Amino acid sequence: MGVLAGRTALVTGASRGIGRGVAERLARDGARVAVHYGSNETAAEETVAAIEEAGGSAFAIGAELGRPGDAAALWQEFDRHADGLDILVNNAGIGTARPFEEVDEAEFDRLFAVNVRAPHFLVQQGLTRLRDGGRIVNISSGLSRTALMPQVMAYAMTKGALDVFTRDLAKVLGPRGITVNSVAPGIVDTDVNAGWLRASDEARQGAAAFSALGRVGTPADIADAVAFLVSDDGRWVTGHWLDATGGSMP
Ligand code: NAP
Repeated sequence: MGVLAGRTALVTGASRGIGRGVAERLARDGARVAVHYGSNETAAEETVAAIEEAGGSAFAIGAELGRPGDAAALWQEFDRHADGLDILVNNAGIGTARPFEEVDEAEFDRLFAVNVRAPHFLVQQGLTRLRDGGRIVNISSGLSRTALMPQVMAYAMTKGALDVFTRDLAKVLGPRGITVNSVAPGIVDTDVNAGWLRASDEARQGAAAFSALGRVGTPADIADAVAFLVSDDGRWVTGHWLDATGGSMP
């Protein structure tokens, strides 16, 4: 039996990329997984099918994040499938390809709405569902702690805010035995990076050179770090920022 048998997990943005990797890993460990998506229902159903083919249990829930009422809409969907929750992974997020000089107010607000406001209210409105002894993991970024790509500072700022959320929420929820941690990926091969990362061998080699291990990260690399934090083995780790950049930090 898996170490997460009997537990229910919600992974936001699990239709693709890192979120899908996390959902598949937690399901493999025995959790029943809510595979959340924004608009790509087909991809979410593919994730659910892959989990079920591997012998796991999952269901898809759709809710566009980053607009008023998003958290309530997501929990309403969730409640149609499950009674309570043990693990929440706030993974859904957006980036920016535009440099500091070109980011306008609407894009800045959108970045914060999806990457910061949504996790904040998802947790706040999910507290009645989250069981004592539960786990919250926020997917941050190495860029919240290094200026390796200073031109995308608006995105990095959202992850810095998410890290403060992690740190303080760990204190707020500690009395209930709930741990809260940030996991910070470096460059991972997902759709968000596809345009430049998969464009040429040179681009991939350049990205790989950021890592001490000389390669680009995979969703499974991040999922395995999350799996530790949400397991019983991670019970004494809370309020922590976990560097999952493959040694990309200076
Ligand atoms: P991705 O491949 O672009 O996937 C994004 C996921 O989030 C999808 O499931 C998408 O749902 C969902 N999503 C995006 N915007 C949404 C919205 N407004 N409402 C609801 N769902 C939304 O992204 P990723 O690369 O896996 O990134 C996942 C997380 O890791 C993000 O928080 C990102 O900042 C962080 N991160 C990524 C990297 C990297 O190199 N990839 C590095 C550091 C940190 P749909 O499929 O429905 O669109």
